[in-house]
Amino acid sequence: MGDNEVSSTDSCWSCDQNTQWAGLLPRERIHLGDGWRVAHAIRCALPGWLVVVARRHITTVAELSQAEAAELGLLCTQVSRALTEVTGCTRTYVAAFSEAAGFTHLHVHIIPRAADLPAEEHGPAIFHHLRRPESEWVPADVMDELARALSARLASQL
Ligand SMILES: [Zn+2]
Repeated sequence: MGDNEVSSTDSCWSCDQNTQWAGLLPRERIHLGDGWRVAHAIRCALPGWLVVVARRHITTVAELSQAEAAELGLLCTQVSRALTEVTGCTRTYVAAFSEAAGFTHLHVHIIPRAADLPAEEHGPAIFHHLRRPESEWVPADVMDELARALSARLASQL
């Protein structure tokens, strides 16, 4: 079977982050709920690109409990609203693949789509922002600054 059948937490970036909540940087702990943690995407060239990460090691949406599913639906809405307020984006994109090696742990991308994003980058093409050279990645201080603003917005909605 394929690599996505792996169910252990060996070499799982998300599980590693989930176990050290208290020491996480602002960009890794924008929000913590019972079933989900919200973080800024890493190795990403688009400021405000967030991931909603399952707190337990699961790899598909089909494995969610009723409570996790309900929380996810609400979070997608609240995170989208916070991104719209903080970044001024026109809309948000929501997608889950969890296919990359080392990143099969279920995470849902919530991506701010700016009004001035070129039309050829609309839709799935926006994912090229995850394949840019390190020199274009969002700097840590920018991620942390956005994270603090988004945390405050989310807290005001909860
Ligand atoms: Zn994991």
